[in-house]
Amino acid sequence: MTTPELQRLDRAHYLHPFTDFKSLGEEGSRIIERAEGVYIHDSDGNRLLDGMAGLWCVNLGYGREELVAAATEQMRQLPYYNSFFKTTHPPAVRLAERLCRLAPAHLNHVFFTGSGSEANDTVLRMVRRYWALKGRPDKQWVISRENAYHGSTVAGVSLGGMAPMHAQGGPLVPKIAHVRQPYWFGEGRFKEGRPQHRDAFGRDCAAALEAKILELGEENVAAFIAEPVQGAGGAIIPPESYWPAVKAVLEKYDILLVVDEVICGFGRLGEWFGSVHYDLAPDLMPIAKGLSSGYLPIGGVLVGDRVAETLIDEGGEFFHGFTYSGHPVCAAVALKNLELLEAEGVVDRVRNDLGPYLAGRWKALEAHPLVGEARSLGLIGALELVDPASGERFDESLGVGTLCRDLCFAGGLVMRSVGDTMIISPPLVITRAEIDELIEKAQAALDDTLARLGDPITDNQEESLS
Ligand SMILES: *Cc1c(COP(=O)(O)O)cnc(C)c1O
Repeated sequence: MTTPELQRLDRAHYLHPFTDFKSLGEEGSRIIERAEGVYIHDSDGNRLLDGMAGLWCVNLGYGREELVAAATEQMRQLPYYNSFFKTTHPPAVRLAERLCRLAPAHLNHVFFTGSGSEANDTVLRMVRRYWALKGRPDKQWVISRENAYHGSTVAGVSLGGMAPMHAQGGPLVPKIAHVRQPYWFGEGRFKEGRPQHRDAFGRDCAAALEAKILELGEENVAAFIAEPVQGAGGAIIPPESYWPAVKAVLEKYDILLVVDEVICGFGRLGEWFGSVHYDLAPDLMPIAKGLSSGYLPIGGVLVGDRVAETLIDEGGEFFHGFTYSGHPVCAAVALKNLELLEAEGVVDRVRNDLGPYLAGRWKALEAHPLVGEARSLGLIGALELVDPASGERFDESLGVGTLCRDLCFAGGLVMRSVGDTMIISPPLVITRAEIDELIEKAQAALDDTLARLGDPITDNQEESLS
């Protein structure tokens, strides 16, 4: 099929995720046909450096024959079986063992799902069930954060803090509250008109959590859920003071900590889990995305001993599960993915080499007149676009971020925009030379954006959240 023919059928029949269906129909989709390493190829013959690793997931890069072979072998051996009704199969068992070995010591069980959203649905049911079993049935409130992303199922949307998502398809799941996010550049640089230090702001955010707990009544609060670094919200790296202060609050009131590792897990921050980087000791860790490097859909919840022992010893049957929980082919691919990450020392390389290398080159983009802040940690990064005239953020309705993103695409780089925040999350196997290329292309797109700023901007509303 030709590109126009595919685009016509796409427009006629395919409702894309997080998409304004009408405007996509008018513009037509870019068709991605193949990929290798850190590059994707479209049907017009363009090669693009994929600065987003697909959707934060292709950690090992494209074209890994070992993962293809793992899927093929498992499909021949046993393409499907469930693990309901006292059955199991080798790939799921081996993956469970491997995950628990890689995770912090007190996490020794895993519940498998098909995605990150399903993992967070599972989290919600587990935390409420845990407290009911503990004889504390009133502990039902879950506190999350504004601008958090926890998926797109009803529970995922409710746990997340994305205002545009909350505005559609409600009512949401009851007893979920949101507190302010530790987004210093966006919300914390000034307090009462004066510049504010990052760490003072981080402590303020933890104080807001404590205030919310007291408002709801500590006896009613089950859990706090957060990403170590917010991904879809805009690669928001919290101030150093934030997590220690939050941990202290949760311990004071005996509230479970759920750390959503769907993006930060499997090496993104230079550790196996974001929880290790920030020294968190989560009770529950939802995982997905990089678990299989995105080659097949699989997610799960790693469950800490405290919750697992209660569910096992006191719970009876847990009426929860999915047809594809622990799917053998997905599990076999995830297992091979983890083996390769380990054997190739990918996580250590992100921590010791690629992360620091990217940090140096990325930070230098702050010299660009359009960039108000360049931040990164491991292999996740963000640029805050600002008006060169004032150094302040643009009016978001101008769509400067979207313009910059489109110019990145045109220049051969996939970089995403969240409002006027440009974000990257490249495959963890990216080389230093490819990082150099990424930086050059980002720099060129910034220059092009600056040059175009005088022009009238059309079509700026299409935004993607996930
Ligand atoms: C992507 C994402 C999810 C949802 O995962 P899906 O597999 O898309 O359902 C949940 N949490 C975070 C932090 C994510 O980035």
